[in-house]
Amino acid sequence: MKVSRKKRILTGDRPTGKLHLGHYVGSLINRVKLQHDYDTFLLIADVQALTTHWEQPELIRESVMDVAMDNLAVGVDPEVATLCVQSMIPEIAELTVFYGLFTHMNKLRHNPTTKAEALQYGMIHENGDLMTGFDQLTYGFFGYPLSQAADITFVRAHLVPVGEDQKPHIELTRDIVKKFNELYGRGKEIIPMPEALVSDVPRLTALDGGTKMSKSLGNVINISDSYDEIRSTVWKAVTDPQKIRKNDAGHPDICNVFKYHKIFNTEEDVATIEQDCRSGALGCVECKGRLTDVLHGMLAPFRERRKGYEAHPERVEEILREGTKKARRIGQETVAMVKEALKVDYFAV
Ligand code: SF4
Repeated sequence: MKVSRKKRILTGDRPTGKLHLGHYVGSLINRVKLQHDYDTFLLIADVQALTTHWEQPELIRESVMDVAMDNLAVGVDPEVATLCVQSMIPEIAELTVFYGLFTHMNKLRHNPTTKAEALQYGMIHENGDLMTGFDQLTYGFFGYPLSQAADITFVRAHLVPVGEDQKPHIELTRDIVKKFNELYGRGKEIIPMPEALVSDVPRLTALDGGTKMSKSLGNVINISDSYDEIRSTVWKAVTDPQKIRKNDAGHPDICNVFKYHKIFNTEEDVATIEQDCRSGALGCVECKGRLTDVLHGMLAPFRERRKGYEAHPERVEEILREGTKKARRIGQETVAMVKEALKVDYFAV
């Protein structure tokens, strides 16, 4: 196996559908940039997706291919980055069990990210916490941050690109690594300490202004959307409710279409739109048309590249198979080191 001297990055996606613009600005742009400077591993976290979608295994299976194609479409280069599938790497599950041996329940119970997500999925009551209001909470979901620690450490990643909201998971991973090395390393660092690489990326809100972004709510644009799909979603966007006629003076600061212009359009166009909205020279219909054109212009090359992969799914399967094999070999090394440290390396079977 070729050993890279670059630092290793682990990041990934939960395959619960196609990736959308929120994923693009939140992490995909960044990973495409980082892939040349770091040894990049992109984990498609299907087991983690099943902790919330265990009743929809077909959706998860289909989404694994969609997520892989979306990554490749935006410019992830399989020659430099490694795409791999979580469930095909049993060493991650092994590490999860080992980490659970010395991680206290309270660490998991007070994780603010897990709590916010459990609320979002209706697994706990508004006033409950992860130990008292848990009638709908599963063991798998409660413990998924442990599995995420295993995701990060099976490739012995040095860096994990995350948004602010994911920082508690990295803190937990660091606690686990520190404790493991102290308990079993006998002075040696067996698992490298991972660092969070917090990027200053804009957080995209849904076009209807809601916090939940989903295709079924019709408030997100997928990376693979056609011109008509982009247009139809942009047309439903919530704008300034007081701007009823074209010539009414508008308030771009409270308009979702303007938020998108600010992220995706040029500074010059944004300044003109702001001015013309406020003066009443620009109407919402035209403004939405301009946003549609900007988004279409940005996404069209991705869609073209994606079409090539859609026509040859066997190529995507091959990329996933080779990437998973490579990642698994590293995971096997890691588990061997962990088992030796835990003194459970009795014999080869
Ligand atoms: S003109 Fe554009 S920025 Fe102004 S309210 Fe309408 S859609 Fe929003």
